[in-house]
Amino acid sequence: MTPSRLLAVAAVAATALTGCSGGSSAGQGVQVVASTYPLAYVAERIAGSHAQVSDLTRPGQEPHDLELTVQQTAQVADADVVVYEKGFQPAVDDAVESTGPETVVDAAATAGLEGDNPHFWLDPRKLSRVAGAVEQALAKRDPDHADAYAANLARLRAQLTSLDRAYARGLARCRTTTMVVSHDAYAYLGRYGLTFASISGLSPDAEPSPDHLAELRKLIEERHLTTVFTEPLGSPATADTLAHDAGIGTAVLDPIDGLSDSSADQDYLSLMRRNLAALRKAGDCR
Ligand SMILES: [Zn+2]
Repeated sequence: MTPSRLLAVAAVAATALTGCSGGSSAGQGVQVVASTYPLAYVAERIAGSHAQVSDLTRPGQEPHDLELTVQQTAQVADADVVVYEKGFQPAVDDAVESTGPETVVDAAATAGLEGDNPHFWLDPRKLSRVAGAVEQALAKRDPDHADAYAANLARLRAQLTSLDRAYARGLARCRTTTMVVSHDAYAYLGRYGLTFASISGLSPDAEPSPDHLAELRKLIEERHLTTVFTEPLGSPATADTLAHDAGIGTAVLDPIDGLSDSSADQDYLSLMRRNLAALRKAGDCR
């Protein structure tokens, strides 16, 4: 980079710094740290151009067993708003507890978890609740832009409502409502009438026992299922074997824990729509 180009960049950066300083000690706009993709998505939608959002989980990284770097722990400490889900990522829980950031949104408490399943974002109504809490936190830290945050929330909520309706309509009349999936992420889709049998448990790493695989095979045969769902993150090997042995196909269902290389150009809404299409196909829904 030439010196004159450097100066130009510095000038732009300085303008950006003075342009939006409400509520932030560093003068760079409100700094939001989110712990996983679905939370970062919501924070970005509410923030619009008035706050900076960073996601502690990088695309392609498995969020369940996230470890934080020293820099990321410092980021949590310095953030104006931290959006995380207590109980989902122990390293983030530790960082929040030890650094005590000023404004914290705990998505687990806001969404209302069912059982110990952390994947609440698969229910658009629960994600909408979290969006409301993020909007309040941002408005509190940056009251100058409260109107913009409220407008962004209204737009997001309208889309989440229409997504919820599309699921309810799209899954109302299906030949089968039983789905075999990779990890136990999909319980929150149960309210659309689906039931899920998972190869591994809540965490994608758990290895299934031969007995468990035999049970799934039996379920596939009894219910005449046509699909075993794999996931973009994690190995499809067990799902592939199960499907192959049962003589049926596989398809991708995304728990939207995080973005992957294959979904880098997607977002929460488009991935949810893609999942709906995959579920409708597997369920032979009319
Ligand atoms: Zn998960």
